[in-house]
Amino acid sequence: MAAKGEMLYAWTTDTAIAAKAECGGAVTALLKYALENKMVDAVLAIKKGQDVYDAVPTYITDPKELKDTAGSLHCGTILLSKVITKYLKGAKNKKIAITVKGCDLMGIYELAKRKEINLDNLLLIGVNCGGTVAPVKARKMIRDVFKVDPDTVHKEEIDKGQFIIEYEGGHKGIKIDELEDNGHGRRTNCRRCLYKVPRQADLACGNWGVIGEKAGKATFVEICSDKGADLINKAAKSVAIGTCPAEPKGIEMRGKVESAMLKLGEKWRKRDFTALKNNLWSIIGNETSRCIKCYSCIENCPVCSSAAVKANGKSSLMVDNGVLPPNPMFHMRRFAHISDSCINCGQCEELCAMDIPLALFSHAIRSEVDVAFEPKLGASAYKN
Ligand SMILES: Cc1cc2nc3c(=O)[nH]c(=O)nc-3n(C[C@H](O)[C@H](O)[C@H](O)COP(=O)(O)OP(=O)(O)OC[C@H]3O[C@@H](n4cnc5c(N)ncnc54)[C@H](O)[C@@H]3O)c2cc1C
Repeated sequence: MAAKGEMLYAWTTDTAIAAKAECGGAVTALLKYALENKMVDAVLAIKKGQDVYDAVPTYITDPKELKDTAGSLHCGTILLSKVITKYLKGAKNKKIAITVKGCDLMGIYELAKRKEINLDNLLLIGVNCGGTVAPVKARKMIRDVFKVDPDTVHKEEIDKGQFIIEYEGGHKGIKIDELEDNGHGRRTNCRRCLYKVPRQADLACGNWGVIGEKAGKATFVEICSDKGADLINKAAKSVAIGTCPAEPKGIEMRGKVESAMLKLGEKWRKRDFTALKNNLWSIIGNETSRCIKCYSCIENCPVCSSAAVKANGKSSLMVDNGVLPPNPMFHMRRFAHISDSCINCGQCEELCAMDIPLALFSHAIRSEVDVAFEPKLGASAYKN
């Protein structure tokens, strides 16, 4: 019997799932098992829409539909936490299994702290995440740098430090470092992210550390809770998944890759935040002068409360009706409001109609707050 803390390789025994899955298909097989066996009432996952740049959140109650959600979409920047509050009543009256990246998970925890989500009703299947590429920027990068028509791409992946595309004419990979040094690649908030293995989920699943004959055919699973162990044991017993212990060498390799990714995240924090040093408020003032008051930054932030949305929706001391741009205090108030809980999910920046680097500002301020209150957490990001 597998238990919390154990690490194993797992794979689906369902050929339809295996054909579409990113690696071992364990994630989709576990979601299907949980739904078929009424451990949950529904599944919330991501599936491919029009093309590889179009990640669509999908609510599933028929286990047969789960195979359509298999596979990883690296241009899938959508955050699932607010989907749960906006459309699924905070999972207050239904048990839901969800596939989550680190940022989805942090958003869920923030909303649970605010009593907007019932964590007890969630079964959280985490996927490791090295970062996502914004869909519009991915198209531009593929056209300008890969010299490939983005509409001909049918698969993309991030593997061994490369962004790789498969398209009608073949496949091409370019080093992420090279892409990012030239202003392409992952979203800037993802580069600064230090949450690569989502251990607050019930299971943390990924491809790092799968070696030997199982390489490419199994999912690496770290069991993070008793709920996760229960799901693995039941699914394995009913042969919905196959499992074997993870190779010790694979566990070691996974640890090394994770450490390297965290160091890279620290490097990006230092680079991005140092550029703001001494000038933060004037840079914020200049950039936010483009604001058109669409309130997308508030709408899509998992931390901004609906009370703040309402206050800002009417004329107030900070925001006058019919006046553009809003008084800079509007943004200052928002940054202050989320300063101790910004999760660096990047939604404010990505969905900003005026391309204001809002995530950079709120993440820098959050990190500053970390340094002040929890020196061990954030100090390294600020050393010059
Ligand atoms: C953006 C992204 C980056 C990743 N980076 C790494 C990495 O650096 N290292 C590593 O070890 N593993 C990474 N993974 C995890 C890996 O790609 C596989 O998802 C994991 O190994 C599970 O494989 P599987 O075959 O069991 O999954 P499958 O059975 O194929 O299931 C995949 C699940 O992921 C969900 N999904 C797909 N795209 C997204 C998305 N954008 N956001 C949220 N959920 C999504 C699907 O809905 C499905 O439930 C990443 C995954 C994603 C989505």
